[in-house]
Amino acid sequence: MATLVIMPQKWPSRLIASSLPKHRLNKSICASIKNNSKSEVRKEDIVIVGAGIAGLATAVALQRLGIGSLVVEQAESLRTGGTSLTFSKNGWKILDAIGVGTDLRPQFLQIQGIVMKSEDGRELRSFNFKDEDQTQEMRAVERRILLETLANQLPTNAISFSSKLKNIEITDNNETILKLEGDSHISAKIVIACDGIRSPVAKWMGFSEPRYVGYCAIRGLGSYPNGKQFDPKVTYIYGRGVRAAYVPVSPTKVYWFVCFNSPSPGPKITDPSILREEAVKLVKNWPKELLNVIESTPDDTIIRTPLVDRWLWPGLSPPPSKGNVVLVGDAWHPMTPNLGQGACCALEDAVVLAKKVAQSLKFGNLTVEDVFRSYADERWQRIFPLTVRANLAGGLLQMDNSAVCSFRNNILVPKLIRLGPMLEHTNFDFEPLNFDSV
Ligand SMILES: Cc1cc2nc3c(=O)[nH]c(=O)nc-3n(C[C@H](O)[C@H](O)[C@H](O)COP(=O)(O)OP(=O)(O)OC[C@H]3O[C@@H](n4cnc5c(N)ncnc54)[C@H](O)[C@@H]3O)c2cc1C
Repeated sequence: MATLVIMPQKWPSRLIASSLPKHRLNKSICASIKNNSKSEVRKEDIVIVGAGIAGLATAVALQRLGIGSLVVEQAESLRTGGTSLTFSKNGWKILDAIGVGTDLRPQFLQIQGIVMKSEDGRELRSFNFKDEDQTQEMRAVERRILLETLANQLPTNAISFSSKLKNIEITDNNETILKLEGDSHISAKIVIACDGIRSPVAKWMGFSEPRYVGYCAIRGLGSYPNGKQFDPKVTYIYGRGVRAAYVPVSPTKVYWFVCFNSPSPGPKITDPSILREEAVKLVKNWPKELLNVIESTPDDTIIRTPLVDRWLWPGLSPPPSKGNVVLVGDAWHPMTPNLGQGACCALEDAVVLAKKVAQSLKFGNLTVEDVFRSYADERWQRIFPLTVRANLAGGLLQMDNSAVCSFRNNILVPKLIRLGPMLEHTNFDFEPLNFDSV
């Protein structure tokens, strides 16, 4: 199989060598490693583990900068099920930066604002984005379409499916060896681990398991093949220890979730009829429109997820890189979805890292470790406060104390909250990535 290195018409391959740490600039890079299985070792410059949002966005961002990579994904194909993700303007800036915003935009409705209701349907507050921030852009994007769009930007064979990373090892001569299920091995100069919330690579770096935060989400994608008129707003409905939301994705699809307190994550339930029943039970007497959306949801999009996060305490949390291996997206910073920022931040990570790698290749002045340190410093400042804020917002919204809920519904939401500060975190600028931009 071909080794994907630098795109031939772009930077010469010597540039990648100039960015490697000194100890790697010798012929050991190309030497075959010996291992017990005697299986052949495939040589790659950059291997990305995981073809989720972070992995594919990183591969696309690198490609736009003229740098090839190989993505290894444990599944047999791209994840085709699942629901939607709400992207705010920071997400759209990145999608534009990597050249897919224009393809995606027309497929999803532009959301104009937010409506907040109590469980009896009373409107507590309503916001129009244009009244507060003309630049806000929000759309709920189908995960399947996003992944396919990203993957379509990559050359054929850039993603190796059914390639589950089993083990990672740094040899005595500082080669990073990825051992895949089925006993194949890859020797990589740079490994970018985008392997999600249960990242084996993060575990290998010494990160703790993400912590369950005390509530779960059931979500789905309601389908109206003949179309149905929905207000182009996110509708949030708050109850006691339970909350729900729905948002039109396109003229025929509506994304919804129900979040509910649960002392433990509970058993893994995948039967959609049980999940639908559970969701309907939780919001039984809530506004009919919500119940209608849940009832209109095809089985294959209903999922239940116990929500988790991991706070990156300074000094306590390990750095997100070890040698030539670095973490991106949920693998580094699982966060609760209360601000709708997990995937947006994974996209931000992807472009920031890609740009730094490209700059170091262009100028040849930094080692891989330097590049990863600079990425970690820059991104930590953004990620840590967001993870904490998302957690606190969720904690407040999930409270079941009647006095607190009454305060929320009668004072906090109707009188105190302001849209500007609530969406402050969506301010993140990034220029389009291209070969001349670094
Ligand atoms: C209920 C809920 C709602 C959310 N809503 C939003 C939202 O509205 N907006 C938003 O921005 N974010 C949202 N998020 C967060 C978002 O889903 C994640 O942040 C995002 O999916 C992270 O992408 P990722 O690529 O880092 O990880 P993933 O999407 O998990 O991708 C990881 C990939 O790595 C692969 N992989 C794992 N292990 C291995 C291995 N050993 N070898 C090879 N491949 C491997 C997996 O198969 C997968 O393809 C939400 C999350 C939840 C739970």
